Amino acid sequence: MMSDSILEDIFIKRSQQKKKTSPLNFKERLFILTQEKISYYDYDVEKGKKKALKGTVEVDKIRCVEKVLPEENAPIERLYPFQIIYDEGPLYIFAKSDEVRRLWIHQLKHVVRFNKDLAQKYHPCFWVDGMWLCCQQGVKQALGCQVLQPKNGGLLGNPSRRKSRKPLPPTPAEEPTPPQPPCPQLGPSSGMTVIAEYEYTPVNKQDLPLRPGEEYTVLEAVDASWWRARDKHGNEGYIPSNYVVEAGHGFERFAWYCKNINRSQAENLLKAENKDGGFLVRDSSKTGKYTVSLYAKAPGDPMGTCRHYNICSTPQGQFYLAEKHNFSSIEELINYHQHNAAGLVSRLKHIVSNKADKAPSRAGLGYGIWEIDPRDLTFLKELGNGQFGVVKYGKWQGQHDVAIKMIKEGSMSEDDFIDEAKVMMKLHHQNLVQLYGVCTKQRPIYIVTEYLSNGCLLNHLRDSLKHPSPIQLLEMCKDVSEGMAYLESKQYIHRDLAARNCLVDSNGTIKVTDFGLSRYVLEDDEYTSSAGSKFPVRWSPPEVFLYCRFSSKSDIWAFGVLMWEIYTLGRMPYERLSNTEIVEKISTGLRLYRPQMANDRIYTIMTSCWHEKPEERPAFQDLVVTIQDLLYELQ
Ligand code: ADP
Ligand code: MG
Repeated sequence: MMSDSILEDIFIKRSQQKKKTSPLNFKERLFILTQEKISYYDYDVEKGKKKALKGTVEVDKIRCVEKVLPEENAPIERLYPFQIIYDEGPLYIFAKSDEVRRLWIHQLKHVVRFNKDLAQKYHPCFWVDGMWLCCQQGVKQALGCQVLQPKNGGLLGNPSRRKSRKPLPPTPAEEPTPPQPPCPQLGPSSGMTVIAEYEYTPVNKQDLPLRPGEEYTVLEAVDASWWRARDKHGNEGYIPSNYVVEAGHGFERFAWYCKNINRSQAENLLKAENKDGGFLVRDSSKTGKYTVSLYAKAPGDPMGTCRHYNICSTPQGQFYLAEKHNFSSIEELINYHQHNAAGLVSRLKHIVSNKADKAPSRAGLGYGIWEIDPRDLTFLKELGNGQFGVVKYGKWQGQHDVAIKMIKEGSMSEDDFIDEAKVMMKLHHQNLVQLYGVCTKQRPIYIVTEYLSNGCLLNHLRDSLKHPSPIQLLEMCKDVSEGMAYLESKQYIHRDLAARNCLVDSNGTIKVTDFGLSRYVLEDDEYTSSAGSKFPVRWSPPEVFLYCRFSSKSDIWAFGVLMWEIYTLGRMPYERLSNTEIVEKISTGLRLYRPQMANDRIYTIMTSCWHEKPEERPAFQDLVVTIQDLLYELQ
C-alpha cells in the first residue's frame, strides 16, 4: 500500500454519463483513498499492477457518501453499490461485499466530516436515463428526496448534531444486506410508512381516503403516481403518491415548513396573514438549502416588510441565521429564534403555513381512471376559444375543478391523440398542467385537465402584472424551465412552447400546457405548414421553420422567446416583421433585442437559447441550475 493511502481496493465504477446520449458502462478500477483525494486507475489484472490514472475526486468537494439501492435484477457483481456525491454529481461505485462497502463508507464519511456544504438530503436510488429512480425527478441537481440519517457516525460524525436528532425508522436504503430489495422501479418499497400531507376524498371505490397527519403503510407502488396503501384500521386502497411524505423524514412534520413555495409565494402568504413576526421555512432556490421568510410590521410601517434569511452552515456542520448563534440542527435554530430575535428584524412569532392550501393535482382523478364519464362533468363557464374549439371550466363529480377542452369535430386527428393521451397521463410535474382524462365515447371528444384559475400567462403578463419585481419575473422563468426539464428528461418534445401555452395558478405558479398537441392539429395548413399564418414562426429556430426538425433543442429556442415575452410583459416577438421577413432575418443572424427589464445576465440566457446550431444551445436541466443560481443571488 502507498504510504499515505487510507484504503485501496478494486471496484466496478459506473461511467458518469456526462452526455445524455452516451451509454452507461461499468469498468473495473483500482481506487485509492488518501486524506486529500480519491483516485481511480486503470488496472492490469494479470500483473496486479496499477496503470493510467483515470480520475480523481478531491475530498473537500465531497458533499455526501451513502449506499445506493441496487438496480432491479442487478448482476451479482453489482449488488453493493455506493455513491460519492460531489459537485459533478454522483460517482457510483460497486463493492464486492457489504463488508467492504461499509468500511469504505465509514472511512469516507470520516475524512469528509468537516466539509462545507455537506448535503442534508440525498437520492437513495440511481440516476438513470435522465431520471432519479427514487423520486422520478428529471433534473440531476434536484434536491435529494431522502433526509440523511445520523447512523454509523451519523451526519458525518458531529456528536452534538447526532444527539439532537430523534432516531428515525429504517428506510429502504437502510435495510440490512443481503439480500437487498431491488430498487423499486417507481417509488418506495412496500412496508414504508408515510404520512398524509393533504386530505384525499376517494373518487372511486378502489381508492383509500387520506386524512392529513395520519400514517399509512405502502403496500405496492403500482406506478409513479398511485400507490396501494393500508390505513391504521386495515382498510386498503389506492392513494395519490404526491399527497403523502415518508414518515419521520425532513421537516414535513413541522408546521413551519412549507414545501414547494418560492419567495414571492412566501411573501404573499405572509402578507395575507398580516401578522408581525409571521414566518415560515421554505426550500431556498439553491438545492439543499433552506430560507426563513419573516414578516415584520414596525410601528411606522403599516404595510409591513418581508425579509428572507438563508440558513447558513459552518464547516463544522452547525446552522445559523445570524452570526454567533450556531445550532446543531435547523429545528433547534428555529426554536431559538422563536424566542429571541438575536439579529433578525423580529423574533419568529407566528407560524404561517400553506398546508391548508388546496392539494396538488393528481395524475388522473382516481387510480386507473382515464376514460371519464361525461355525465360526471358539469359545465360552469366558458374560459376561451382555442385551436381545437371551446374550453370550459367545470366540476367533475360535482366538486373537483377541471378544465374541459371540447374538441371541434374535424380539428384533431382523434385516434392518434387518444393513443397519445395514455402517454400524457403519465407525465406528472408541478409545472405541467395535468391531464386528468378524456371522454372519447361521444362526439365532440373532451380533454379534461387541471384547472388554473388565473388563466393564460400571456394575458396575465399583459393585464395583471403591474410592477413585477426582478424576482417575480425570474421565478416565472424558473417554473417553466422546471416543467420543461421534466419533459426533456422524458424525451418529450413540446413543439409549441410560448406564453400563450402556459397557465397561471391561483398562487402565481406557472404551468406549461398543450405539450405535444400540435401534432394532432388537422386540416389547418395555416397552422401545420411552416409557411402558414398560424405556424409559430416567432418561436421557431431555423431547423424548424426550414426543415420541421423538432427536438428538445427547438423547445429551448422557444423557451428563450418565452423568456423574452415574460421580460417585455407580453409583447409580440418581432412586432414589426411578418413571418416571411422573420424567416429571412433569423437566417441572417437577427435576434430579439434585450428587453429593458432584462439585465445582461438574463439576456445572455435568452441568447444562449438562440444559437443557430441546436447542439450549442443549453439543455433545460442546465438552464434550471443557472436560473436557480441567479435567483439565489437575488434573495
Ligand atoms: P388551444 O390550445 O386549443 O388553442 P387554449 O388551451 O389556448 O386552446 O385555451 C383557450 C383559453 O382557455 C386559454 O387562453 C385559457 O385562457 C383558457 N384555458 C385553457 N385551459 C385552461 C385551464 N386548464 N385552466 C384555465 N384556463 C384554461
Ligand atoms: Mg393552447
